[in-house]
Amino acid sequence: MSEQSNGADEATVERLVKDFLAEHPVESTPDRELRAARFDAGLAFVHFDKGFGGLGLDSSLSGLVEQLFLDAGCPDWMGRNVIGLGMAAQTVHTHGTDEQRAQYLKPLFTGEEIWCQLFSEPGAGSDLAALGTRAIPDGENYVVNGQKIWTSLAHVARRGLLVARTDPDLPKHRGLSYFVLDMQAPGVEVRPLRQLTGQAEFNEVYLTDALVPASDRLGAVGEGWRVAMTTLMNERVAIGRRGSRRGEGSIGAAVAAFRAAAEAGRADASARDRLIRLWTRAEAARLTNVRAAAQRGAKIPGPEGSIAKLQMAELNKAIYELCVDLSGPAGLQIDTYEMSQPTQSSGAGGSVDVRRAFLRSLANSIEGGTSEVMRNILGERVLGLPGEPRVDRDLAWKDVPR
Ligand SMILES: Cc1cc2nc3c(=O)[nH]c(=O)nc-3n(C[C@H](O)[C@H](O)[C@H](O)COP(=O)(O)OP(=O)(O)OC[C@H]3O[C@@H](n4cnc5c(N)ncnc54)[C@H](O)[C@@H]3O)c2cc1C
Repeated sequence: MSEQSNGADEATVERLVKDFLAEHPVESTPDRELRAARFDAGLAFVHFDKGFGGLGLDSSLSGLVEQLFLDAGCPDWMGRNVIGLGMAAQTVHTHGTDEQRAQYLKPLFTGEEIWCQLFSEPGAGSDLAALGTRAIPDGENYVVNGQKIWTSLAHVARRGLLVARTDPDLPKHRGLSYFVLDMQAPGVEVRPLRQLTGQAEFNEVYLTDALVPASDRLGAVGEGWRVAMTTLMNERVAIGRRGSRRGEGSIGAAVAAFRAAAEAGRADASARDRLIRLWTRAEAARLTNVRAAAQRGAKIPGPEGSIAKLQMAELNKAIYELCVDLSGPAGLQIDTYEMSQPTQSSGAGGSVDVRRAFLRSLANSIEGGTSEVMRNILGERVLGLPGEPRVDRDLAWKDVPR
């Protein structure tokens, strides 16, 4: 048990959840009502402060709490509000004022407000700090102009995590500030972008003289990069954590695909060999994540979170490739290529059809930072290898040739 756990261990948390569910039975309590009560009881994010959805416990206990509610039959909200639950909540809790925490965390948790992440731009993806969207102070507001891209779920989001440039005279990392954007504000235009799967899960977002109240800035002026790091570190861990039980997630789909192929006489010894190798890697990755979460305790994830993200991306691609190979000729057929968009209730990401899941998995090594960038982070910040040359790091952003 860690020092930050306030004496609570797994058994205590199990009892708290059990008592809560006795008072709020899953069968007879509407989902949103149950989530609101969960938030008020501090069982939303148990590692957050009391009064803000938590109980001040160790963050390693929050996964257990989530699993206990899932086991009791509560719906899984992660896919529907992945950016809200996986990244925005921790960012608001860490850097927000008490007013901001009180305003945003509860509707985020209940699912009343879906969140999106307005980071990437056409000229700034891996090199996020180069972004050019401007936020210029004007009285009580900032006036925001620019274009964001690849914004997952922006079409259903009520709030956006926005990083914008407030001072172009400073070097790129130092002139940024971080805001919560009202996606329904005038000047915010969302246009769908279609992916390889046929689905438009993400969007372009055009910001034209959009007004953001200064009270919606998270952290101090010029602190945007530091706040963004909290979001990105949590993003990598959230993406990498999917499938937290042995045999769950994509590797479970591969086992099912192998069984079906074996029954159809299509699974040979080499397919079995591929499956076993992938299963072993998936299990090693899962255990690495469990160990990392336990070691992290109450701390915000560090650069080592990139291990989970890198593993998950490369494994998922290999696993779904095997699934498609095991499908035989059916692996080449897609039922429809009609454009569709995730809705508030369907969320982004996963697909039960392995052919679609294969196409979607190709994005895993791009979204949330590419595998090349994860390797750079691990090399430089975890292993201490020499850094890449960074010629623009100390130049004023406005003087960098582009
Ligand atoms: C499905 C999906 C959902 C997404 N959702 C969101 C979202 O909700 N919000 C958001 O803000 N963004 C989102 N993104 C964007 C994502 O974060 C970026 O695509 C990613 O960071 C890469 O940036 P880029 O596309 O500009 O590629 P680039 O940065 O232009 O990279 C191009 C290639 O160069 C390589 N490369 C770049 N720099 C280096 C380097 N220093 N060393 C080695 N190789 C390098 C990259 O690995 C890549 O292969 C999403 C992307 C996808 C695919």
